[in-house]
Amino acid sequence: MTKLSLFVAAISAWLACPQAGLAQPAAPQHGTPGVERLYVLYCGDIALNDASSFTPGASGPGALSDTCYLIKHQQDWVLWDTGLPDSLVGMPNGMKSNAGVWTSKKTLMGQLAELGLKPSDIRYLALSHSHPDHVGNLNLFPQPTLVVQKAEYDWVQPFGGPRFKPEQPAIKAEGDRDLFGDGSVVLISTPGHSPGHQCLLVKLPKTGAVLLSGDAVHTRANWDSHRVPERNFNMAQSLASLDRMAVVLKENNAQLWIGHEVSEVPLRKYAPAYYE
Ligand SMILES: [Zn+2]
Repeated sequence: MTKLSLFVAAISAWLACPQAGLAQPAAPQHGTPGVERLYVLYCGDIALNDASSFTPGASGPGALSDTCYLIKHQQDWVLWDTGLPDSLVGMPNGMKSNAGVWTSKKTLMGQLAELGLKPSDIRYLALSHSHPDHVGNLNLFPQPTLVVQKAEYDWVQPFGGPRFKPEQPAIKAEGDRDLFGDGSVVLISTPGHSPGHQCLLVKLPKTGAVLLSGDAVHTRANWDSHRVPERNFNMAQSLASLDRMAVVLKENNAQLWIGHEVSEVPLRKYAPAYYE
């Protein structure tokens, strides 16, 4: 054997040997490795005068949690919804809304700061929809690119005028959209609660896939009984969106996290803890 062929033989043997240290990259346990972490953020509390306004058949007063989520995708941060306004903190009696009272114990800004983040660090501000309990802090995030459905973006306010500032950069999706092109953060179009409502499918490396509900469903009871409240932009679309979500959950073996479901609050770990 020449020196060269000996060298080639040695390299071949080394490559063939599983203990050679040239390990195959570990396959991700679930989905792709694009998303590194997901933080659950507290975004306020909603006391309802009448629980049946969101849960048909319920009686008496009710409550909804308000939840935002922060996703770390390799180099980029994605914020999903902005919750109730931070200005509620320090208002002991909260603020009256058309369905009850809004209060908040902790600001979104403070929670981001605790993670060492400022609003300009967020690359994408993705919104389930444009109702006030989801866009309460929108004005604190002028730099990130909005990620909304075009149908929501174009939906004029009841008093006229746009919902979003035209100068803010925006992705106006028309239907489902894979935000990073790697399948790890996917907008799922679920119209009905509002014209351009969307859910977010997030594939985490260890936790697996999670579908963030937005307001396509408000409570676990509604999900279990496949019903939607009257307070709705389009009930037929809302019901069809529940069917769509069921398919997405099954196809991705995903968990459904319902942001307004108070009974889910103690089940979640909140920032600064996170899900991988
Ligand atoms: Zn809501």
